[in-house]
Amino acid sequence: MNKRYDVLVAGAGPAGLAAARTAAANGARVGLIDAQPQPGGQVWRHDVRAAPHRAERKAIASLRHVDVLTQHSIVTVESSSLRVETPDGTQLLSYGSLIIATGARELLLPFPGWTLPGVTGAGGLQALTKQGWPVAGKRVIVAGSGPLLLASAATLRKHGAKIVGIYEQASADAVRAFAMQLRHWPARTAQAAALRLRLAGVPYHFGSFACEAHGEEHVRAVDIETPHGRQSIDCDLLAVGYGLVPNTELAQQLGCSLDYRGVHPFVHVDPLLRTSASAVYAAGESCGVGGLAVAQIEGAMAGHMATGQTSAAQALLPRRDCERRFGDLLARHFALDPRLRTLADASTTVCRCEDVTLGALDDFADARAAKLATRCGMGACQGRICGTALAELGRFPRNGARPPLFPARLATLAGLASFPSDDAYRGS
Ligand SMILES: Cc1cc2nc3c(=O)[nH]c(=O)nc-3n(C[C@H](O)[C@H](O)[C@H](O)COP(=O)(O)OP(=O)(O)OC[C@H]3O[C@@H](n4cnc5c(N)ncnc54)[C@H](O)[C@@H]3O)c2cc1C
Repeated sequence: MNKRYDVLVAGAGPAGLAAARTAAANGARVGLIDAQPQPGGQVWRHDVRAAPHRAERKAIASLRHVDVLTQHSIVTVESSSLRVETPDGTQLLSYGSLIIATGARELLLPFPGWTLPGVTGAGGLQALTKQGWPVAGKRVIVAGSGPLLLASAATLRKHGAKIVGIYEQASADAVRAFAMQLRHWPARTAQAAALRLRLAGVPYHFGSFACEAHGEEHVRAVDIETPHGRQSIDCDLLAVGYGLVPNTELAQQLGCSLDYRGVHPFVHVDPLLRTSASAVYAAGESCGVGGLAVAQIEGAMAGHMATGQTSAAQALLPRRDCERRFGDLLARHFALDPRLRTLADASTTVCRCEDVTLGALDDFADARAAKLATRCGMGACQGRICGTALAELGRFPRNGARPPLFPARLATLAGLASFPSDDAYRGS
């Protein structure tokens, strides 16, 4: 079945929810798509053991006039429409305007032992736990970088895990300087204080990172590099993530320009969130990592822009710019220690979907050649994990996004009107 909306919003996280609510309030017929079973995105992911947060309840309750299309995965772009896969088949959704609000994912970096069962992303374990994965009584090490470590540890603790320690790779000086700046964002100060309260008694170490995980069938100990030397610490689970990377693949398939200022590109938008593609806007973490507040403000701005309410969008610019500065602060103070890029050796698996080691990629000049010869990046994650990690390691820049955006059923692929030729994605 095909449907058409005045405004279609891709992604039902805080940015997409605000965009859909705003566009609908401005009188548009709005569709809001998300692959997940419930709206909320990463930060408001449904927690089986906890009542929804007040802001989340409010955001979701305000969708009365929006067509909420959950369990709809956008698989590809087809003649200026989005092909989505649903539990029952596929649909083609077309639009007057499109808002990209596809958020961000975790950056995982390979190190010896990182593919052992029991080693996950920090946000990944948080998400699993919210969905009912049992962690009660488990000894968990949380490691990596950025405020997500605290949010993840707090969720795990609420579900009964014993947090052995939080190991932040940024130095104590860098984190202290970050904390001093937080006073410019009072809501952030309150959020950070609340998290520290929920984590009372949990040791928080700085300048420390996981360098090797040990175990036969399952992780049982982790070597941590600290400013005082290497320590081996026993655990049942290791949750490790190095911050976030914007999801730009849908934007790339739509032909939107990306901003390549850092290692990981983000969707390029003008101050009023217009992308380089006609009638396509982008909001939230797909435009650069900045957190919840910026996602909500930009979502509202994009909702106004997509319905022709330019002055209303302009009125939100000062708040948006202030929140974007928080993203810059994060990037500056949680910059990655270069040693993290040297943890993987030639025998370390980089592409866990296809079992490809770092050493197996040595002879290839670019990602495409490596992919053709080794299948690196051709598995279920479609290079989201390994491609991003290899870019961070300085091996291959990430510059392509082939369909399907998510693993899709054969029947979905067979039903596509056309499949873009390989040439269109050369280099991906
Ligand atoms: C794993 C993880 C956990 C996090 N936990 C926290 C936390 O506890 N606290 C906190 O303050 N911040 C957390 N963050 C940061 C969080 O990303 C932001 O605070 C905020 O959620 C960003 O909002 P957003 O709307 O831009 O994107 P998101 O919340 O990421 O929402 C994007 C949505 O787009 C959907 N989507 C993407 N591609 C497609 C597609 N092809 N088809 C259909 N749907 C698609 C996704 O399913 C998702 O629901 C977390 C981030 C990650 C990656």
